[in-house]
Amino acid sequence: MKKVVGLFLVCLLCIPVCLQAQGRQGGEQPQWDPESTEWYYPVPVKVRPGEGTRPPSDAIILFDGKDLSRWKAARGDSAAGWKVQNGELIIVPGKGGIRTREYFGDCQLHIEFRSPAPGEHKGQNRGNSGIMMQSRYEIQILDGDDNPTYVNGMAGSIYKQSAPLVNAYTRNGEWQIYDIYWKAPRFAIDGSVESPAIVTVVLNGIVVQNNSIVKGTTPYTGLPKYIAHGRMPVSLQDHGTETAFRNIWIRNL
Ligand code: MG
Repeated sequence: MKKVVGLFLVCLLCIPVCLQAQGRQGGEQPQWDPESTEWYYPVPVKVRPGEGTRPPSDAIILFDGKDLSRWKAARGDSAAGWKVQNGELIIVPGKGGIRTREYFGDCQLHIEFRSPAPGEHKGQNRGNSGIMMQSRYEIQILDGDDNPTYVNGMAGSIYKQSAPLVNAYTRNGEWQIYDIYWKAPRFAIDGSVESPAIVTVVLNGIVVQNNSIVKGTTPYTGLPKYIAHGRMPVSLQDHGTETAFRNIWIRNL
């Protein structure tokens, strides 16, 4: 008896589904209740935008013009060897790169830089530095003011991988504003790449990398490659020039 009642109930539940399927076969659109495609939770956290290029309320301030407390030397355990002067962070050539103490994955990074006076330097020797996403993947910093070089090594490039869509650099001596939207690579347990890193780069408000696929590391010599890793620091490159930085902040995504 219980079995018969159970079967009856199952049939009863199936009737609306069967009718809907019949309707679709007949070319009718399913009847949707508009509210069935709306949801109310979880409610996005309220974040207060920053004025101009200032950080929004939930940003981690990496450099606010005062000190290098959130940074250390990129290699070894020593303190960051760059100088803070007039609210700017300036590379001390030969001191090596610096890296954040904190580790990051997917993120939104804001960073402003100013190339030094060119002097006699040309090409890759003019204001060369770089933002090493996860300490591995370089978004190039270079003086882009009438400074011919290989295009996948100019400002706005993913170094030796992807040239910028346009040259958005303004003038030598002016502050250049980078906003970088980074999706970290994903790796399987065996170390293989599940999905590569993807980056959108905006230079001075102009998109120069549009969801570009990062092919791996960005060496000077050789080809890109991936070696599995987790969250990593953001590093800044010392390439022998006195490039200046200011207003550096980051948001975890
Ligand atoms: Mg560089």
